[in-house]
Amino acid sequence: MRTELFTREPDISKVRVTDNFWKQRMELVRTKVLPYEWDALNDRIEGAASSHAVANFELAAKLTVEHKVGTIKAGSVRTEQGQAVSSGEENGFEGFVFQDSDIAKWLETVAYTLMWKKDAELEKTADEVIDLVCAAQQEDGYLDTFYIINGLDKRFTNLQDNHELYCLGHLLEAAVAYTDATGKDKLLKALIRYVDYVDGIFGPEPGKKKGYPGHEEIELALVKLFRITGNKKYLKLAKFFIDQRGAEPNYFVEECRARNDGKPYTDDLSYYQAHKPVRKQEVAIGHAVRAAYLYTGMADVARLTKDDSLLETCERLWEDVTKKQMYITGSIGSSPVGEAFTFDYDLPGDSIYGETCAAIGLAFFAKRMLMIQPKGEYGDVLEKLLYNGIISGISLDGTRFFYVNPLEVYPKKNHMDARFRHVKTERQKWFGCACCPPNIARITASLGSFLSSYNDDSFYTHIPAGAETEAVISGNRVGIAVEGNYPWDGDITVRFEPEKNTEFTYGIRIPSWCDSFTAELNGVKIEPAVSDGYLKIKRVFKAGDELKLSLPMDVKIMEADCRVRSCFGRVSIMRGPVVYCLEEADNGPDLHRVRISENAEFSAKEEKDLNGITALYCMGFKELPGEGELYKPASARRFETIKLRFIPYYAWANRGEGEMTVWVNRY
Ligand SMILES: [Zn+2]
Repeated sequence: MRTELFTREPDISKVRVTDNFWKQRMELVRTKVLPYEWDALNDRIEGAASSHAVANFELAAKLTVEHKVGTIKAGSVRTEQGQAVSSGEENGFEGFVFQDSDIAKWLETVAYTLMWKKDAELEKTADEVIDLVCAAQQEDGYLDTFYIINGLDKRFTNLQDNHELYCLGHLLEAAVAYTDATGKDKLLKALIRYVDYVDGIFGPEPGKKKGYPGHEEIELALVKLFRITGNKKYLKLAKFFIDQRGAEPNYFVEECRARNDGKPYTDDLSYYQAHKPVRKQEVAIGHAVRAAYLYTGMADVARLTKDDSLLETCERLWEDVTKKQMYITGSIGSSPVGEAFTFDYDLPGDSIYGETCAAIGLAFFAKRMLMIQPKGEYGDVLEKLLYNGIISGISLDGTRFFYVNPLEVYPKKNHMDARFRHVKTERQKWFGCACCPPNIARITASLGSFLSSYNDDSFYTHIPAGAETEAVISGNRVGIAVEGNYPWDGDITVRFEPEKNTEFTYGIRIPSWCDSFTAELNGVKIEPAVSDGYLKIKRVFKAGDELKLSLPMDVKIMEADCRVRSCFGRVSIMRGPVVYCLEEADNGPDLHRVRISENAEFSAKEEKDLNGITALYCMGFKELPGEGELYKPASARRFETIKLRFIPYYAWANRGEGEMTVWVNRY
């Protein structure tokens, strides 16, 4: 393993995002999304799906404090996968088994925002939430409201479906971020107690359970805990969960047998990526969010333990996901059945699942692969996700959300045909299963950690969004500022401010959509080498050095590989990293009748609507309906010409309900 290529993520508290495009979104998260989310978690939003997440902690804390655990009877608890559960008791546990994770993601997001904007009131609320969470903790460290309320005797008896380790993972991520942001470690200490308790139950040692989570997440979180504590025990536990997954005898089958509750064994272990050991898995399979979180943890563990076979597995699965099972927007998960991958080149745009969380999970995976090796293809996918398939999950005003991210909607079909009903045509206020909104908030708030990475002798800019980053390279503090108007403009300036002259390699990704570029260093045109998708300059950098890069942003008419049946004969439009779509609001109904020539000439125009976009215009053709016959000779086709307006895909569904399509028929 070529460990000299390894990089680490920047200290997020040392990154100041200055970018127009992202700064506005990060502020939206801080000022709108977080308060909105807090109201949702407290069930204060009229007409929104209920959460009960705070109430569950209040009840669990009350039970813990009053030592009444076990005295409240569990009622009709339904724990089937995908089902909301209720204790049946008034004021019992409500919501999904993983409801605790929504509180965790809110706290984690708060932590990131406090890094760039101090807010005493918000911090006080977060401290109170942490007090509440800690008040629910058991003597032995255990902390999961579902079982605290419904009966601790059942804990860790259904790892397959009941998400205890998943919730612990999210709480851990929150605790690490909150300590990073504030220096306060109350939650971190509580979570360490819980993890130590878990470590005493699960592990390779004789007498310990050989289980692993049904929903991966704790693996990547334990790596964060290892980072902040330096305690290798946590990295070892992450590796155990990864190594154990899919081993024979299958743990989920065994635990189901041990529960002996009359319910059948799961017939699809691949849903959990538990059908065979991870190193033997050839293709991405099963629930897409779970898969992406698993691969993220695998990449972390591969890097930190220098595990070649695990790295090869990550590379193989990366290849399968991004070359055969990923939408042009970066979305993954082709089927609503199991919210899952299906098979290679199966990428329907209208019946897609494309969960926002899955796109976010793939961005996590891309970030880890970039830390193993800065390679253009990883950065290209990360960029595709950030500017398309992730931010499509939130409305421009920050109060409406998509769980499913279609590439094509026809509202009549989505309302009337049950096969398409999972695809919403308007963003929703909240969800009973509310994993996506808090996830989009935390990735936006932590954007600074996705833009670059570095090691002792190199610094890499993966995404050229405006940001000032401070890193320590060769023992010297080095400031690197990226400026520009990405993704609308390809002119990028990079300024270097080392505290003293420092020799290192600076690399900046040349996106795969860019056919040619020009570069200047301190006003002199240069032609530096591009390797692995990065322009690289090795020199002694001094304060005031300036690199200017120009990436021409031509409009590209794209098509999918001909093996993708669902968009065969259709094209989509990209400019720079942004994928475009047609909406009914601009182009009228019946978008399926629209055709464009692959020689169409586009004009790009900066416009103020939709919070400021670059819109694209071209002339197209719209086929005219016949006179009443259902079928006619193809030669009788007639068209009218039509001026088409394309908007960025992420901005769709902000002007009321209507048709939308990313793929357009070729003329
Ligand atoms: Zn989700």
